[in-house]
Amino acid sequence: MSKLAKDGGTPVRSKALPPNYPGAVVYGKEEADFTSEVIYAQSPFRYYGADMKGAVESLENAMTRDLNVPYALAVTSGTAALVVAMKALGIGYGDKVIVPANTFLATAGAVVCCNAVPVYCDVDDSLNLDPHDLERVYDEEVKAVIVVPILGNPVDMDPIVAFAKKNGIAVIEDMAQSCGVRYKGRYAGTIGDIGTFSFQMNKIITSGEGGAVVTHDLTLMERAIRYHDQGIVRHRARYGIDSPDEQFAFSGQNFRMNELSGAVMVEQWKKLPAIIGNMRKQHDRIAAALASEIPGIKFRACPDPDGTIGSNLGIIFPAAGAAAAFNQAINAENVQAHALYGGKPVYMNPALFQQRSAEKDNFPYNYPFKKPVVVTENMCPRAVDLIPRTTYIPISPILSDQDGADIIEAVVKVHKALHVVV
Ligand SMILES: *Cc1c(COP(=O)(O)O)cnc(C)c1O
Repeated sequence: MSKLAKDGGTPVRSKALPPNYPGAVVYGKEEADFTSEVIYAQSPFRYYGADMKGAVESLENAMTRDLNVPYALAVTSGTAALVVAMKALGIGYGDKVIVPANTFLATAGAVVCCNAVPVYCDVDDSLNLDPHDLERVYDEEVKAVIVVPILGNPVDMDPIVAFAKKNGIAVIEDMAQSCGVRYKGRYAGTIGDIGTFSFQMNKIITSGEGGAVVTHDLTLMERAIRYHDQGIVRHRARYGIDSPDEQFAFSGQNFRMNELSGAVMVEQWKKLPAIIGNMRKQHDRIAAALASEIPGIKFRACPDPDGTIGSNLGIIFPAAGAAAAFNQAINAENVQAHALYGGKPVYMNPALFQQRSAEKDNFPYNYPFKKPVVVTENMCPRAVDLIPRTTYIPISPILSDQDGADIIEAVVKVHKALHVVV
């Protein structure tokens, strides 16, 4: 058996794999040319300019066409998209929003920024929200549930949508990490009431920063447009919106996407099928090889394997210590693997755990809820258990077959040396 690199052996790879920025690593002439065009046209703003190129609008049109949804609105970030989505739904002070215990800080933070309070739902072996835990966290003060397909794996939407319908609450899909994921043949993000996307650099496609919301509902779209642009609607004819500002305007934000980001995103959007195709190809090859070489290896569960985009391979270890040892050893082989979020549920973040906001009197946490929101360390026991023992191996869209073979070799080598997987 070969000696582990962490113990002085030769690493499986002499060089690191490509960095985990799936969209940015395929940047090229296309993004450069369209952004140059916007620059030479001296028209970086989406709503007026000397020689407008309509980049942001083209992105929105490409999203509606390809996701098969009538409305898309580009915004400045995934966090902005979440805020716009909740404002469109009228969520605010006195409301609770269900958030999965396994997600990035922004999902819960956006709820607080909308003056509502997050309540946390447990996860299952998919590491996504467990529909069976919804009943436990639901009460009449809950107005919405945000589902988050973590790292490219779909969420089991049918039972969640059914639960939301039964209780009259909204479903928001936070697609930040999973642009292009499908569930039972439909694009995730278009299944609930509103879907939100992030185009930050760690996400599937990127303009460095950026985001979008999509919806089937024109009323929600109008409110989203208004909230993202100072309460007004500029392109009324485009959406068939004729509600007068005198009656319908409200105070909003500026979350408008600029044309340079739009130009990059138009080209990134065109590359999305190829990005997903390459990730899926390596992901499926690696998973199949590991399943045959490591009997009993446990992958993260997936409610619809056809719908995954393959951006990460999730392996669940029997214990947190085994996962940590695996991660350390395989990183020394020059193959990246990591647990998410410091191995902890999102609510263990100090601001969320201590329920602190930037506002006076700890608004909105100070709302006199009929059923107070209490955060305790073990409130979501499966998240506490599963998050630190799940390891993710990023699958870059530019992996070669040799890179894929190296990942397989490194996982098998570390597994054999540590006896950790089964
Ligand atoms: C990254 C991320 C966000 C926030 O997106 P930004 O564009 O960075 O604001 C929201 N939710 C999830 C699940 C994320 O991973």
